[in-house]
Amino acid sequence: MSKTRFKAITDSRNRNRITITEKKRRSELFGQNVFNEERMLQFLTKDALESVQNAIFSGSKIDRKIADQVAEAMKGWAITMGATHYTHWFQPLTGATAEKHDAFFDLLPDGRALEKFGGGQLVQQEPDASSFPSGGLRNTFEARGYTAWDPTSPAFIYETTLCIPTIFVSYTGEALDNKAPLLRALGAVDEAATAVAKYFDKNVSKVNATLGWEQEYFLIDKALANSRPDICLTGRTLVGHSAAKGQQLDDHYFGVIPERVLSFMSDLEKECIKLGIPVKTRHNEVAPNQFELAPVFEEANLAVDHNLLLMDVMDKIADKHRFKVLFHEKPFAGINGSGKHNNWSLATDTGVNLLSPGSTPMKNLQFLTFFINTIKAVDSYEELLRSSIASAGNDHRLGANEAPPAILSIFIGTQLSHVLDELEGVSMGKLSPEEKTELKLNVVGKIPEILMDNTDRNRTSPFAFTGNKFEMRGVGSSTNCAKPMTVLNTIVAKQLKAFKKEVDALIDTKNLKKDEAVFNVLREYIKTSKRIRFDGDGYSEAWEKEAKKRKLSNNKTTPEALKVLTTAASLALFKSMKVMSELEVKARQEVELEAFILHLQIEGRVFNELVYNHIIPVAITYQNTLIKNVVGLKSIYGDEYKKLSKGQLHIIDQITEHITSLKEKSDAMVAARKKANVLTDSYKKAATYAEDIKPYFDEIRYHCDKLEQLVDDKIWPLTKYRELLFIK
Ligand code: ADP
Ligand code: MG
Repeated sequence: MSKTRFKAITDSRNRNRITITEKKRRSELFGQNVFNEERMLQFLTKDALESVQNAIFSGSKIDRKIADQVAEAMKGWAITMGATHYTHWFQPLTGATAEKHDAFFDLLPDGRALEKFGGGQLVQQEPDASSFPSGGLRNTFEARGYTAWDPTSPAFIYETTLCIPTIFVSYTGEALDNKAPLLRALGAVDEAATAVAKYFDKNVSKVNATLGWEQEYFLIDKALANSRPDICLTGRTLVGHSAAKGQQLDDHYFGVIPERVLSFMSDLEKECIKLGIPVKTRHNEVAPNQFELAPVFEEANLAVDHNLLLMDVMDKIADKHRFKVLFHEKPFAGINGSGKHNNWSLATDTGVNLLSPGSTPMKNLQFLTFFINTIKAVDSYEELLRSSIASAGNDHRLGANEAPPAILSIFIGTQLSHVLDELEGVSMGKLSPEEKTELKLNVVGKIPEILMDNTDRNRTSPFAFTGNKFEMRGVGSSTNCAKPMTVLNTIVAKQLKAFKKEVDALIDTKNLKKDEAVFNVLREYIKTSKRIRFDGDGYSEAWEKEAKKRKLSNNKTTPEALKVLTTAASLALFKSMKVMSELEVKARQEVELEAFILHLQIEGRVFNELVYNHIIPVAITYQNTLIKNVVGLKSIYGDEYKKLSKGQLHIIDQITEHITSLKEKSDAMVAARKKANVLTDSYKKAATYAEDIKPYFDEIRYHCDKLEQLVDDKIWPLTKYRELLFIK
């Protein structure tokens, strides 16, 4: 066995087991490190508290004096908690989060030391923005961007740093991050949904989008992960022959969690709980070494922050347990990849989940209104929603016979389909009293019972209704949920606005009662959004054909998927909902294309390194051993050697063939990359990477994996799948 591989494996076996002793109950620890309402009550004056609460509730600005007070209070609390530094914590366009730490500690001109942190530092900071991607939004020579406090997401302490969630914008006001557009989208959906919810309950004055994500990930021993250049540099294995045992036995799913992993999870959960992340479930996933963690759902902006924070914390805790977390969407060939289901709904400030059927016909009409409008929104903007989850990593799942397909469709189950069919059949215009009764009692009134036994869950659907929420299943495991959440909430906002307008028009001009008008508009939506509904097998070829007939998009690569962002319709949507200006959308498209190119470029380079510096050399070494053996046989047995070394000669030939092909393919890939790299148009460059370069990856991998099977295990340089997977 090669030295590095041997060392990695022995290191991983000699691990000290870390055992955790928990003395406190989880509920006591919850939010301990968060400047939440409880702390604010303790540390803030009444005025300051009110001002912060207003900012959270209605987005009003906090004035400078109050900010000073809040800063003082935050600092006081943070210092008692042992914090020495503070940072504005933000979400640049690529990568998950960024932070720049400053010490509270400061010196006065006379040399005395003090702990300083005022309102100015709380509400605004100027990180050196030049190194973050901006898609051309900010000229690098005037790399000016600033971060500004988002009071809707509470500050928290991680280790010894007070972290303040912020948006990141340029001096001309353009969003340079993922949080600012999300906040705008959440504002839009609040406004639109509140107006519609008022049809059913006048007391509603705010609607929050809710998000409950489910994070899948792989856990690999750190020493083993570090022994693989591909995992270190790309987050996935570029080569590696499948282990003799994979996930065929399905014995990992909900199986017993290995002790070492359990100890990591327990530590992680404790940290999450302290940070106010309400983690709840944990279990093994389908693939070996794959796990999932899910929290209780929260307001969407907070949930997004918590997911990003979780990813950071996971990395750190894993490191302590000598694990490496892989968030990549497809770290291992032949084994399920990872996703991050986004469960989404709308909740009123009166405590009602708008996607939950209720106990009265009116409640159910409200449910149907939000349910059907969501379907209609997704139907109108299916391609845009698909674009929000596009990335180099996710291309391995969407459209690659895994996870949901690249085609967006909605699963609602047979029972609700039946309700929609019945509604569609109701006559237009004014309803007779009999029709009304029939509708209310037998169609709308039946919904709660129906949902109770609606158990036909379709695992292949990318957008499924699951009883009281929609579940978006195509989101990649490394994706910032802000991206799909921005698009989803924007399109639903737009749709609800259109709905309100239509209903009001019917009430005004046709003299219809409110519920009649609502039924009329919903009925039209049911008819015009049918193509998006699909309850069958999303992985089947038949669906691909059918979807094409229905004119649903099927963009399998990131560059293709991103095109729709800048169509006139998309730009108009974002502009009309005040979520993003044309410039901001274009910048995002540019950043995403660049990120895609960069990912593939790096993978291409690592491939070359693996082929030339790792794989071909050992293939030759082993071939030389065989040749030596054959020469030896010849010297002993003369012409007899041919018969005696038939096997060896065959392997020698096979190795030659694979080495030749490897060299050919690698060189061809390099040539293709050179050609692509001179292209200046990002779309063309990205498309070239997707179409002309990426296919070489599979071919190169094929020969590498064949050589892995041929070459003596003792000298193979790369840690194998069977060693990487199956934690003990
Ligand atoms: P399952 O049967 O699939 O486990 P759960 O009801 O436990 O269904 O929910 C799965 C995920 O959905 C959890 O992460 C949870 O937080 C989230 N979730 C539940 N209700 C809502 C909601 N109203 N809005 C957003 N997410 C929700
Ligand atoms: Mg799920």
